[in-house]
Amino acid sequence: MSSRAKKVLILGGGPAGLTAGWKLATHGVSVVVLEADAQVGGLSKTVRRNGFSFDLGGHRFITHNVALAEEVQALLGDRLEVRPRKSSIRLKGKFFHYPLDFGDLIKKLHPLTAFQSGLDYGITSIVQKIKRRPDESLEDWVKNRFGRTLYNIYFGPYSEKLWGRSPGQISADWAAQRISLPNLWDVFLRLLGKKADTPKTYATRFFYPIGGIGVICERLAEEIQNASPQNKVLLRARVKKYLHTDNRINAVVYEHNGTEHQEEADFFISTIPLPELINFMYPPLEQTLRNVAEQMEFRSLRFLNLMLDMERVSDNCWLYIPEPQYYFFRIQEPKNWHPGNVPEGKTSLILEIACNYGDETWQATDKETAERCLDSLDELGFHVRDKVIDYFSTYARHAYPIYTLDYKEKLRTAFTILSRFENLVSCGRQGLYRYNNMDHSMEMGIMTARHILEGIPREEIYRIATEAEIFEQEHRQAYASLRREN
Ligand SMILES: Cc1cc2nc3c(=O)[nH]c(=O)nc-3n(C[C@H](O)[C@H](O)[C@H](O)COP(=O)(O)OP(=O)(O)OC[C@H]3O[C@@H](n4cnc5c(N)ncnc54)[C@H](O)[C@@H]3O)c2cc1C
Repeated sequence: MSSRAKKVLILGGGPAGLTAGWKLATHGVSVVVLEADAQVGGLSKTVRRNGFSFDLGGHRFITHNVALAEEVQALLGDRLEVRPRKSSIRLKGKFFHYPLDFGDLIKKLHPLTAFQSGLDYGITSIVQKIKRRPDESLEDWVKNRFGRTLYNIYFGPYSEKLWGRSPGQISADWAAQRISLPNLWDVFLRLLGKKADTPKTYATRFFYPIGGIGVICERLAEEIQNASPQNKVLLRARVKKYLHTDNRINAVVYEHNGTEHQEEADFFISTIPLPELINFMYPPLEQTLRNVAEQMEFRSLRFLNLMLDMERVSDNCWLYIPEPQYYFFRIQEPKNWHPGNVPEGKTSLILEIACNYGDETWQATDKETAERCLDSLDELGFHVRDKVIDYFSTYARHAYPIYTLDYKEKLRTAFTILSRFENLVSCGRQGLYRYNNMDHSMEMGIMTARHILEGIPREEIYRIATEAEIFEQEHRQAYASLRREN
């Protein structure tokens, strides 16, 4: 295969960048990865302390791409396991199935609310069949499918807590891709007990590596470095400028150990946040594009990681907490993801708190954050205060791209201008400003490598994770070659 580049510079050492680097390195291309963090993995990293492993909010590997699942299995060998999943919603003092199940709702909600929800849902489903109402926002999408009552008690408060703004200001695209939908007949059969509780589009098990999700990226980085002594994965290397002339990128400027360096290459794969790529271009790009970059916002997350001297808090992998009076929107228990995430006889919790970068929640001390979290845990009935061994925070500044109502227009402008750079691909969750999973980012990495190696069109990369529905699919065949299920 004759590659179109001898040396490729990859900006960002998360799943997208490292998968691209791995594929290129195995074809003899020289690869340098620059990663700003002190470890690889990006949002899919694992932070380890005193025998406890914490992902940035638990991460499971699920995919419908069988070839990718097999590659990840080959990469991890015995370290990859298939794990069962249990997740719930805590609402009005009770625990409900996740995703919402009507039979469960009817049994547990106050009879009046249950009746109202069922009636609303039934009428909405029938009205939608006769004349479909338009979906502009997340709010429209949910109300047009589940009715007002369920929107008001669950979807509305949860979305508002997560996004920090009204669901009327978030594009319906997000809901369509992320919320699995029961159909009326399905619900009816489930109420009669003639169908399984879990919709078929919903993953009930997942791949998870011993040692935490971060092991996938750690293995990819090893493979890149093992392929040639010239290959490098440089940590604490923050890119600051992309130098360009005549529609080509020539080099990037980055900071490492307090000094500025410059690195040249034939081709550049950028997986850092799209607005930063736009702003780092030197000489600066058109003002229109910089204005667009300014408007591309991200919702941030802060995670409080609690280490506990007790066997278990609950049997959930994760628990959704939609009500606004509680400080976090989700509780994860890493031991339920994999027992190897904690020392013998101990457990831990990850409390996920939505915020904006630099706001009061982001800046609060660990002690203040722990106090607020422990108060909320107490109110929820999880009395773990006297079991706390230690705690610390982790952060994700670019956790969720905010799909405002006009986000597609902004992206069109950005990619029209950026596509003039023939030796640059911006991809991955941050690089495409796309709410995608790690398997999608890995697929983008593979396609980007093929773009460089075989000349497949860039559009093939951009098409990944644009399906109308990409929620939590699993593919049974993906597990077929992995015999050990735990
Ligand atoms: C709370 C949460 C839970 C999730 N759960 C799941 C899950 O269960 N399963 C799943 O499949 N997906 C999950 N995801 C999504 C998954 O984390 C991402 O899809 C995946 O990590 C994206 O990979 P990426 O390489 O595209 O981007 P990232 O992982 O964001 O990597 C980008 C990298 O670029 C680096 N970088 C940024 N700026 C610079 C710079 N200036 N210079 C150098 N480096 C820079 C960053 O440090 C980072 O390492 C979850 C995401 C969140 C936020």
